[in-house]
Amino acid sequence: MSSLWHPYTQMQTSPPPSTVTGGDGPYFILEGGERLLDATCSWWCMIHGYRHPRLIKAIQSQADTLCHVMLGGLTHEPATRLAEALVHVSPDGLNHVFFSDSGSVGMEVAMKMAVQYQAQRGRPEKRRMLSLMRAYHGDTSGCMAVCDPEEGMHSLFAGFLPRHLFAPAPTAPFEATREEAAHDIQALRSMLEAHHHEIAALLMEPLLQAAGGLNMTSPFYVQAARELCDEFNVLLIFDEVATGFGRTGKRFAADHAAVTPDIMVLSKGLTGGYIGHAATLATSDVYDAFLSDDDDHAFMHGPTFMGNPLACRVALESLAVFEEDDYLGKITDLNAVLCQELLEADDWHTHPAIRDVRVLGATAAIEVSEPAVLQGVQEYARKQGVWIRPFGHWLYTMPAYITTPEELRRITDVMKGWFDGD
Ligand SMILES: *Cc1c(COP(=O)(O)O)cnc(C)c1O
Repeated sequence: MSSLWHPYTQMQTSPPPSTVTGGDGPYFILEGGERLLDATCSWWCMIHGYRHPRLIKAIQSQADTLCHVMLGGLTHEPATRLAEALVHVSPDGLNHVFFSDSGSVGMEVAMKMAVQYQAQRGRPEKRRMLSLMRAYHGDTSGCMAVCDPEEGMHSLFAGFLPRHLFAPAPTAPFEATREEAAHDIQALRSMLEAHHHEIAALLMEPLLQAAGGLNMTSPFYVQAARELCDEFNVLLIFDEVATGFGRTGKRFAADHAAVTPDIMVLSKGLTGGYIGHAATLATSDVYDAFLSDDDDHAFMHGPTFMGNPLACRVALESLAVFEEDDYLGKITDLNAVLCQELLEADDWHTHPAIRDVRVLGATAAIEVSEPAVLQGVQEYARKQGVWIRPFGHWLYTMPAYITTPEELRRITDVMKGWFDGD
């Protein structure tokens, strides 16, 4: 009998989870001393790995000064400095930062902002979201309603979730030309043509739909989304909760397309995973729509822990380490290993169950024909000292950026070895 209820877990039949007692770089350590190389950096957030001395020190020194204070009517230096730093590193034009405590809430904030923006710009009928199939934006109800309807369990929660609109998931790969992406772009245009009068915002995980199946797409698609949103007076929201801070090879996925969304959400890598936090960034155009003599035009949202000083301070340190330790360079090196081992090496992907192999930045996914193909891979990996956790049709890695090329090869060897076996 367990008092602790685990996520996405059938508590009746699942084996008891392993107990983690510590961590060290890209490894975490289990009770009994087993060291596992984490191929997924704890749901993609521990980008500096475990027990990074600079991040620990930042938290410790902040804890000694101020652990928490509300942002209602008060402010503090870690929050103001982090807001400025995020404006500085994010795409040009995102000048304002609203903090919250998780990726899902950051997305809730973005959606509320978009609806209220439209109302205050005199377009109150624009109150629905346009999302994409295969999207994942979080597990709170507002976010579930914009997740892929099947994966997001819309039928189970029918009557509870608001109903939004969905365009097809893009199919053109990252390398596609604009012509090759034209079909995807046209599908987006058709939805906007038919429904723009009721759409507040188009939201997407730019370039990489993560938890919805590691679907990668072209920067041309992202650019076209920007153009279409301008044409149809719809806000563009980028959910960079997973892609932010280097995962796709540039600091933000938006940077590949040189596009500025109206609203952008950051979380997972924001604090290097050391404390849950999120930031919803907005352009001045969005922000200005909330300025008025009327108090009712203010943005009515305020999570208790928004701008938590410990989180802001460790996020500032995370940004500094990212810069000073040349993480974009490290990500380029990791990408080279992933391309070499998984795409160029042709000694392994002949297995009939493999449908596709994709690499983008420090992300690689092997898509298989059915989930059963991956049954047992976790145990197989663990015997070789690697922690990997496939979901659905996907065996993937999103390693911490401090993972060395040699360590990453241990991960890709496990991924390939699973298919070499028979
Ligand atoms: C993980 C994730 C979220 C949700 O973040 P939480 O912190 O788990 O609430 C939202 N969007 C994307 C793209 C994510 O990967």
